[in-house]
Amino acid sequence: MRATVMYGAGDVRIEIVPDARLIEPTDALVTVARAAICGSDLWPYKTMERSDNGRRMGHEFVGVVEAVGTDVQTVKAGDVVVSPFLWSDGTCVFCQEGLQTECLHGGRYGSDDVDGGQGEAVRVPQADGTLVVLPVGADDALMPSLLTLSDVMGTGHHAAVVADVRPGKTVAVVGDGAVGLCGVIAAKRLGAERIILLGSHPDRIALGTEFGATDIVSERGDEAVERVHELTHGLGAHSVLECVGLEESTLTALQIARPGGAVGRVGLPQEDSVPDAIATFFRNVTIGGGPAPARAYMEELLPDVLEGTIEPGRVFDRSVPLDEVPDGYRAMNEREAIKVLIEL
Ligand SMILES: [Zn+2]
Repeated sequence: MRATVMYGAGDVRIEIVPDARLIEPTDALVTVARAAICGSDLWPYKTMERSDNGRRMGHEFVGVVEAVGTDVQTVKAGDVVVSPFLWSDGTCVFCQEGLQTECLHGGRYGSDDVDGGQGEAVRVPQADGTLVVLPVGADDALMPSLLTLSDVMGTGHHAAVVADVRPGKTVAVVGDGAVGLCGVIAAKRLGAERIILLGSHPDRIALGTEFGATDIVSERGDEAVERVHELTHGLGAHSVLECVGLEESTLTALQIARPGGAVGRVGLPQEDSVPDAIATFFRNVTIGGGPAPARAYMEELLPDVLEGTIEPGRVFDRSVPLDEVPDGYRAMNEREAIKVLIEL
């Protein structure tokens, strides 16, 4: 079968790899219908050391179950399914607490014997705990939005949950990438009265405004902080969603949180330490976040996607066939595209 393999920074290839197959009795074999390139795939695209064996890529996909192992109960051949970006058993203590990202028997796609999502098929371990059956056909018009439940929509929602977004409150979203835009959707969905989007790309801001952003701050650094304070009577935002992960964006997020407010961090941190520790201490700012338990949020978000109440699939502004995935990486890396959909 064909799949995406990265051999080093800027070197993504579509290659023939061994066919995905069932190995464990808890596996499902899924034929991929749609997959996506993630912002987090761009970090190795920028920095990966050259590797002779390469690395299988992709962790966001929807598809059709081809076959299941003998222990699998909740999915069957023919089901249309979505997978979160990590696989998990659904039964361990962390899964029961809704933190499937810490599953004691879970793991990542694209390592060991587990395929990456950017390919023709995937062996999904722990299928019962991982996959969610979708009540639509594999070519349904909702597929792009359903696909975002595997990562970006769940991640934006996680930032909003951790930042304690509530009805009537003021929310600031730092970052206008796909996750930040999904953070806007999540904040609006949870009842935020005012949503300040910090970003500077016109097309992304336009989409963010359609998603519910009420104010745009295009300045950066100290000027952005000043602008948010102007917009909030000098108080700052109740809830801040940090959706970038760079040191500057993290500092901005912390500086615009109002006393007693909360910051939900979902941008993959590029620094080891969290800045602004003293000032946020004295303002009683809660700082939290991490990898989103996308699996936990699927059941909550799925009805809204099916009803069309939210349309996170609009973050996909380009789609490519599998053979053109390398150009999809380039386009996202050069910010020509917000997020790239792969149609198989
Ligand atoms: Zn678990």
